[in-house]
Amino acid sequence: MYFAKLPGVTIKRHFGRAVSSIELSKRQEKILEIVRESGHATGRQIAAKLELSRAALRPDLAILMMAGLLGARPRVGYFLTGKQPSDVVAAVLGNIKVGEVQSRPVVVRDNCSLYDAIVTMFIQNVGTLIIVGEDGCLEGVASRKDMLKATMSGSDLNRMPVGVAMTRMPNIIVTYPQETVERAVQKIINHEVDALPVVEPSAENTGRLKVVGRFSKTNVCRVFAQLTGL
Ligand code: ADP
Repeated sequence: MYFAKLPGVTIKRHFGRAVSSIELSKRQEKILEIVRESGHATGRQIAAKLELSRAALRPDLAILMMAGLLGARPRVGYFLTGKQPSDVVAAVLGNIKVGEVQSRPVVVRDNCSLYDAIVTMFIQNVGTLIIVGEDGCLEGVASRKDMLKATMSGSDLNRMPVGVAMTRMPNIIVTYPQETVERAVQKIINHEVDALPVVEPSAENTGRLKVVGRFSKTNVCRVFAQLTGL
């Protein structure tokens, strides 16, 4: 839903909250200019300078506050927070949870043959397979290059289980439905991987991790596409 225009950002309703990015409306820019010039200004003062009623000004003030560009204090009025639109985007990413944007997990059993695992990658159109044990809990992860490496070794792909090619627990970097997208993106960058299994502790409390989703670079691209209205 179109929501409003902000500086360098279009503010929209995404994931249930306001998100900023490009171009403020002329009036919003004027409001920021007035507040910048006087250090701080009350709604009444801003309205007088713009020759508008305070009611007419209210939506713009609300948007600027929601975007984090304006703050307000009793008896002081509105002031500039000093935040840049980029801070606002960071704040938004810090607000979206992995569980809101994750994809369904594509999993195979650890005893699945390498051949079948590669076919699953093709059919399901994913670059990372999540490998689970008999109990459905996380055992490992196999990437495209893991598969290539195994293929190049010349072994019989029908006889070798995917388990021999995967990176295994406890070396798997995971994320959680309640983790922020910002934190998950940091993990992807720091560990130089394409995807993270989204997990929850298993109901049996064994320390094993139930796989509930998949969070990949594609999910990150989708978030940006939605935020920018692509
Ligand atoms: P590719 O190897 O196809 O470039 P990645 O960069 O995702 O794909 O994987 C690099 C290596 O890291 C692979 O050996 C893979 O098994 C491993 N890997 C991928 N994802 C994870 C993860 N979430 N946690 C730990 N290791 C991972």
